[in-house]
Amino acid sequence: MSDCIFCKIAGGEIPSSFVYEDDNVAAFNDVNPQAPVHILVIPKKHIASSAAVDDSSVWSSLMSSAVKIARKLGLEENGYRMVINTGEQGGQSVPHLHLHLLAGRNLGWPPG
Ligand code: AMP
Repeated sequence: MSDCIFCKIAGGEIPSSFVYEDDNVAAFNDVNPQAPVHILVIPKKHIASSAAVDDSSVWSSLMSSAVKIARKLGLEENGYRMVINTGEQGGQSVPHLHLHLLAGRNLGWPPG
């Protein structure tokens, strides 16, 4: 989608350094990190939110990529959190599906 910031990042129109990339997924550091590790994992094709996913392969590529990144960064021992905010009350601010991978500190529960 032409005015979507994450489409622009995925397409290289906005320069970003990917921590992971394959045919379907790109991952990059969050510009406003909420933890020492805060990576966003996105599908390269535009999908507005988790509610708009109609192909289960999107989930497998997104989740397996996040787990691969966590492994690569050695996050398993201390743990990590994967979050997908959806819609207004879910706290979604960018309307392109993204998974937050958070780690590096004790994360509180319940979320705010
Ligand atoms: P959400 O609130 O779940 O939609 O998350 C959107 C996330 O995108 C926030 O954590 C923002 O800090 C992050 N973000 C927004 N613009 C950019 C950008 N240009 N590069 C990296 N992260 C971004």
